[in-house]
Amino acid sequence: MNSFLSTLLGWVGLAPPRITCARRVWQTGVHELARRTRNGTRESGAYLLGRRRQNGTHDILEFVFYDDVDPKALATGIVTIRETALPRLWEICRARGYGVVADVHVHPGGYGQSASDRAGPVMPRAGHIAFILPNFARGTPKPGAIGMYEFLGEGRWHDHSRSGTRFLKLGWS
Ligand SMILES: [Zn+2]
Repeated sequence: MNSFLSTLLGWVGLAPPRITCARRVWQTGVHELARRTRNGTRESGAYLLGRRRQNGTHDILEFVFYDDVDPKALATGIVTIRETALPRLWEICRARGYGVVADVHVHPGGYGQSASDRAGPVMPRAGHIAFILPNFARGTPKPGAIGMYEFLGEGRWHDHSRSGTRFLKLGWS
């Protein structure tokens, strides 16, 4: 959809959300991210895999936790993505027929991006989405209370956080 039309439809609440996720998948995944912080002693994160629908919306279908792909990913307390983990990720994507829709990681406090979050997108390609969950993901944070950032390339990001469920919609399916 061209961007003027989608902006217009967004104003009147008719644009399809950029990303959707079944409520059960979101709640289970976010709960698991909170658990993997080990009572808030380290950050955790996941690749969010899924598919693109014909209307352009991307469906999140599965959380793939960083520490499952790379046992050392959480070792320093801050999420560290190592190149060596990527072949394992592509293998999972191929086996499922999914792509990487977005990534998500938790913060101890608020959901603003850190300097290193801005400097090092997990997937360094324009259009990639990074979610940040506050307070070590305690209480299963939802759209409207989480960070939602789109990488635009060349170190630039767009902050969609205030769009809430118009950007990331949790559904029942
Ligand atoms: Zn961060």
